[in-house]
Amino acid sequence: MRFAVSGSYGHKYAFLGVRETQLTHWQMFKRDFLSSKPRLMCILVSIVLLGTVGASEFAYAQEAQGRSRQSASPNNIKSSPNSSAGEVHLLPVQGNISMLVGAGGNITVQAGEEGILLVDTGLAPMSDKVLEAIRPLSKRPLVYIINTDDSGDHIGGNENIGKTGRPVPTDSQRYAVTERVAASHAYIIAFQTVLDRMSTPTGQVATTPEGGWPNDTYSVPQKNLYFNGEAVEIFHQPANTDANSMVLFRRSDVISAGDIFDPSEYPIIDLKRGGSLQGVLDGLNRLKQMVIAADHQEGGTMIIPGHGRLSDAADLAFYQQMVTIVRDRLKDMIKRGMTLEQVKATKPTRDYDPIYGSATGNWTTDMFIEAAYKSLSGKQETSQSHGN
Ligand SMILES: [Zn+2]
Repeated sequence: MRFAVSGSYGHKYAFLGVRETQLTHWQMFKRDFLSSKPRLMCILVSIVLLGTVGASEFAYAQEAQGRSRQSASPNNIKSSPNSSAGEVHLLPVQGNISMLVGAGGNITVQAGEEGILLVDTGLAPMSDKVLEAIRPLSKRPLVYIINTDDSGDHIGGNENIGKTGRPVPTDSQRYAVTERVAASHAYIIAFQTVLDRMSTPTGQVATTPEGGWPNDTYSVPQKNLYFNGEAVEIFHQPANTDANSMVLFRRSDVISAGDIFDPSEYPIIDLKRGGSLQGVLDGLNRLKQMVIAADHQEGGTMIIPGHGRLSDAADLAFYQQMVTIVRDRLKDMIKRGMTLEQVKATKPTRDYDPIYGSATGNWTTDMFIEAAYKSLSGKQETSQSHGN
């Protein structure tokens, strides 16, 4: 299982809160010391915080170690070999929202009197367990599925789960209803490109059965819904592919980010499907604007990432900073005319590798650097690029 289910809130202290606080207290200590007015409290706090940092970093290194043993992802399907034998876990987030982990990509569940809405559906073999987990949440059936991209660990359950759904005929916002949907099926919402890829990926045979295709696509920057007493905004944001969506639940104050944000590893950049490192960074920057922290960078808007643990503003800020720094390092090396091999030889991510790196699996550090280099140098294998 690649999901950190619990016990992960301490880490953010190690990277944002405490490091900054530690610095502040250290500076205060020095200032006080020099001005011959040492404050006992300050020294004590500094000592306690130093201890906390050590402990947190140790805990984080442990998790990173555990993660590196897990399987990473290929370009299209991020799977864990044990998924089909694994269990799913439903974690309440806040408001109407829960997070279902263990079925492939994280699944966001919004439940209420009108029924159930899912963001992503996990891997196909996990569908029964997903249905079992969400059934008790509402007396009404599943109404909506929103797909954040078209990778198998996010759309795999579309067909099995979607066919248990029922559209609600009274909602004025559902205008593009096909006959098939009207018969009996959940609405499956995605950016238009997701349907294009699932239905005719090579112009020949569709990779996904028709029952799993999105039947309510959008091709504008934003699509809105109102469901279970809550405004739901769906934003198109090209990132690790050119067809990512992220979903904001306004009343619950939760964002389902899909693979735009994956704190469990370096961002996957699917060049063939129009992904780019700059796109991922644009997505993270946009998320940063949408996420509002409560006191001391904690709580506030919660983010359900495509993979990995439930996150908040501090977690996002740390990840966004990492991607920005790596982007700047690579850009600088490209500007100096360095080849991919030369760039790799400098180990440009070595300080982050204990947290996000992997030498094995399907999304290794090497693969990330290569995709990022190609993305930034404009040497993609596709014509679709989102700038550098
Ligand atoms: Zn994913």
